[in-house]
Amino acid sequence: MAKTIEVQLNDQAVTEIKKGYPLILKDGVLNSQVLEQEGSLIKLVDRNWRFVAKGYYGVQNKGIGWVLTRKIDEEIDFEFFKSRIVTALNRREALFNDPNTTAFRVFNGEGDGIGGLTIDYYDGYYMVSWYSEGIYSLKHHIYNVLEKMVDYKAIYEKKRFDTKGQYIEQDDFVRGEQGDFPIIVKENGIQFAVDLNDGAMTGIFLDQRDVRKAIRDKYAEGRTVLNTFSYTGAFSVAAALGGATKTVSVDLASRSESKTIEQFSVNALDYEQHEIRVMDVFDYFRYAKRHELKFGLVVLDPPSFARSKKYTFSTARNYPELVKDAIAVTEKKGIIVASTNNASFGMKKFKSFIDKAFKESNTKYKVLEESSLPRDFRTNRDFPEFNYLKVVILQKL
Ligand code: SAH
Repeated sequence: MAKTIEVQLNDQAVTEIKKGYPLILKDGVLNSQVLEQEGSLIKLVDRNWRFVAKGYYGVQNKGIGWVLTRKIDEEIDFEFFKSRIVTALNRREALFNDPNTTAFRVFNGEGDGIGGLTIDYYDGYYMVSWYSEGIYSLKHHIYNVLEKMVDYKAIYEKKRFDTKGQYIEQDDFVRGEQGDFPIIVKENGIQFAVDLNDGAMTGIFLDQRDVRKAIRDKYAEGRTVLNTFSYTGAFSVAAALGGATKTVSVDLASRSESKTIEQFSVNALDYEQHEIRVMDVFDYFRYAKRHELKFGLVVLDPPSFARSKKYTFSTARNYPELVKDAIAVTEKKGIIVASTNNASFGMKKFKSFIDKAFKESNTKYKVLEESSLPRDFRTNRDFPEFNYLKVVILQKL
């Protein structure tokens, strides 16, 4: 077990942390020479060595560690981790009791009191993601808590902390009875095939649950759908179940084709009634414009940054162009679902990208709804920078 170190903070960092900011930033540390071993527990102090908070040292792209408690007499031990995890489990009681939703997030990092750690639930299987070497070295506490407090079929883990932010190929099984993957989970009654031991991603992004529901229940009926950056086609499946007349799923990754066929099939939908295209979204837009294809619903859910053979796309720079492409292939009165998971800008900026695209296309629109992370992806409302998801559903007029 790593030792406790005393980390001195500058005045600004002290003020922020006292206000509730959970992240320890490198720039705020005065005596960084004490930061040696990740996983060390930290006592944060001010210039005059007065107590500010306790946390741990763990390097992520965001910062060098997380605040865990502001109470001087709270120890960072098994009881600490137990209290945070049990509170998080209790907050999700309604989801645990919902027979139609069997996959959701049970612990969301700093939003549930421990930055750098997330735990997802997939129908009895728990998947723990570690975002730094530091939190990973405290894993015995977290696994001890899960061992005592939950009934699990098995636990899997993802280490998301090698230097380049790349996923390390590994066996993700931790303990329990190995799953027979893919397993089928449900989300508002929609079925999804997931595999917890097949690389960085599981087949479904749990943070889009509300958007999939909105598409199925409110926007898909009778419409033709273009789903860009479709991955396993989860939005297409939601749309098809909601009565879309046809869906077209476009993704560059060749795996997306078999994965999309699988998601359609587990919902008893005939994938042959739909189109699945393994190609660059930007090429597809050109093709669609050339053939004057129009859709009643277009979904935009790009990665924050993507580089293909021909194009480099960054949401922060190129989102307006993406929306312009979408406008060009959307019917009048059609719907555009614009989403981004880029944490480097907020909702206001995101909406300005959309507005710019419509102005430059000389087209009017009406925002129908705006949304963000679902409730199980708990975030600290005082710090919107951790609330990365932004979704705007709008109608082209
Ligand atoms: N919308 C998906 C998640 C998207 S993940 C869902 O709901 O599950 C991002 C996806 O974008 C990846 O599957 C990746 O293969 C794809 N991608 C990245 N750049 C692309 C491009 N230029 N054209 C098509 N797909 C791209």
